[in-house]
Amino acid sequence: MGECEEDQELRERLKIGPQANVDYPINVLYCGNCKMPIEYCEFWPGYEKCKQWLEKFYPEEFSKLTLRENAAMEAERSAESSREKSESPDKKDKRRQRRGGKGQKKEDSFKEKRISVMIAPRSRRKVETVISGLEDFGIDLKVAVKVFGTKYACGSSITDENEISIQGNVKADVIEFIAHKWPELKDVIDDNGDYRNTFNI
Ligand SMILES: [Zn+2]
Repeated sequence: MGECEEDQELRERLKIGPQANVDYPINVLYCGNCKMPIEYCEFWPGYEKCKQWLEKFYPEEFSKLTLRENAAMEAERSAESSREKSESPDKKDKRRQRRGGKGQKKEDSFKEKRISVMIAPRSRRKVETVISGLEDFGIDLKVAVKVFGTKYACGSSITDENEISIQGNVKADVIEFIAHKWPELKDVIDDNGDYRNTFNI
């Protein structure tokens, strides 16, 4: 039986050592804001700051990124317009209302927001737990920082708009703690993992 194309492709990917179609050495550009390879910045809660950093220090990369983002947006727009064409006018109206936000009820917008808790590298040895999204739920970050500071004797600080960092790995504990302290947030907290093990920094 002959090998199918998929198998060949998989074997190629699993091969150890240099690959034929890659230029070596591979230069990885690490973001000065989130410390991850720039390909991963978009998954970072403070993505806007990553972009600012990139624009300042690597304008060429930044313009490439902008081009890619615009292309993706354009693709989405055209997919959407072809979808709209095939829909009844009634449906269209409904969707526009949802998008526009003005016709939106408060409960709806509440549902879409989430709180993210994750472990992030702080330096080669240390990590921090990053919580973002609290402000969207009407929680004063200054109050939250005090609450976390009391609970965790180590440093807790506001590190970005809508973002708090606590020194050390307290992710599992803080998720429980937030749910206990603000019970209404129990179902909107996302455990967004641990970024230490994914990247060698
Ligand atoms: Zn970044």
